[in-house]
Amino acid sequence: MPAETTKRALITGITGQDGAYLAQFLLDKGYRVSGTYRKSATPDFWRLRYLNILEKVTLTCADLADFSALLEAIKSCQPQEIYHLAALTFSGTAFEHAVDAGETTGLGVTRLLEAIMKIDPGIKFYQASSIELYGEGGTQPLSEDTPFNPVNPYAVAKLYGYWIARIYRQKHGIFACSGILFNHESPLRGLNFVTRKISNSVARISLGLQDELTLGNLDAKRDWGYAPEYIRSMWLMLQQDKPDDYIIATNELHTVRELAEKAFETAGLDWQKYVRTDEKLMRSTDVNFLQGDNSKAGDNLGWQPQVKFNQLVEIMVKHDLDRWQRHARGEAFPWDIQP
Ligand code: NAP
Repeated sequence: MPAETTKRALITGITGQDGAYLAQFLLDKGYRVSGTYRKSATPDFWRLRYLNILEKVTLTCADLADFSALLEAIKSCQPQEIYHLAALTFSGTAFEHAVDAGETTGLGVTRLLEAIMKIDPGIKFYQASSIELYGEGGTQPLSEDTPFNPVNPYAVAKLYGYWIARIYRQKHGIFACSGILFNHESPLRGLNFVTRKISNSVARISLGLQDELTLGNLDAKRDWGYAPEYIRSMWLMLQQDKPDDYIIATNELHTVRELAEKAFETAGLDWQKYVRTDEKLMRSTDVNFLQGDNSKAGDNLGWQPQVKFNQLVEIMVKHDLDRWQRHARGEAFPWDIQP
C-alpha cells in the first residue's frame, strides 16, 4: 500500500489489554499504529511483546493529565482515527483514586477532544465507555436509552467522558463514538481482575505452586466477553457513516461461582476443594449487574460475539497453564506473572 494512503491510528492506553489487541488488529488491517504510554507504564510493555508487535508500533510518552504531551502525540502521528482507551480501569479501588479518576479518566477525554479541535476536527474519536455507567438502576435489559446511575468515582468519570464526547459530537460535529463496554477478558487481562486472578491461580494450583484461592462474593454476576472481539466493535464504529454510541455485550450473565467451577474443571480439578471466601473481598459498592442488549450493535455494525463464557474461561486457563509450565521449565517470560 503506498504510504500516503496508509491509514494512521493513535491509541491511548496501548500498553493495556484492549490497546495491545487493538494495535494488533489495526496493524493486520494495514494501519500505521502509534500509541501513548505514561512514564510509569506497565512493566516492559509486556502485552505488546506477548503479541510480538512492540517493534511495529510507534510509542509516545503522554499522560492523560498532560495536555501538551497529548497535543504533541496527535501532531506527530497525524491520525485519521483516535482510540481513547487509557483510563484508571480498576473500579475495585476507585475510591482510593477518586481525584485521579476525575483528572485522568474524566478530564482526559476533554483534553483529547480539545486537541482534536485544535489540530484537525475531522479526526474520528472512539471513547471506551463502561457498563458501570448504569450502576444499580435501570430497566432490563439495559439499552443505550436506559438512564445512567453511576455509584463510584470510576463510573462517574466514565460518565463524564461519555457525555462530553456526545456534546462535542452534537455541538462541534466531531465524529465521536462511545462503546458502552461490558466486561471483556483475555489472557492479557490484568491480574487484579477476578477472571485472570482465577485463571492464574488455577494454573498455579494445578502445578502445585499454590494451595488455595480466596475470592469475595461468589454470587456476583457479570457479563464476560472476549476482548479481541470487543476490539473489532471499536473499529467498526469509526467506519460507519454516522457517529453513534453502542452497547457491546454478550447478553449473558454468569456468577463468579460458575467461573471458578469452569476454570478448575478446565484443569481437571474440583473447585470446591480449593476456593475459600473472605468477606473483606466483598465490595460494598459492587454493582448489581443487569442484562445487556447488544441488538443495536448487531443491527447497525453487524457485530456479534462468537466466543461465549465456557470457551472464554478455557482460553484463559489454558494460556495461564502454558505460561506456568514454561516458567517451570526455566523459560524467561515477559508477561505479568510474579513467581
Ligand atoms: P487496562 O488493561 O487496565 O489498560 C488501561 C490503560 O490505560 C493502560 O495502558 C494504562 O497505562 C493506561 N493509563 C492509565 N492511566 C493513565 C494515565 N494517567 N495516562 C495515560 N495512560 C494511562 O484496561 P483495558 O481493559 O484495556 O480497558 C481499556 C478501556 O476500556 C479503559 O478505558 C476501560 O475503562 C474500558 N473498559 C474496559 C472494560 C473491560 O472489561 N476490560 C470494561 C468497560 C470499559 P499503564 O500501562 O501505564 O498502566
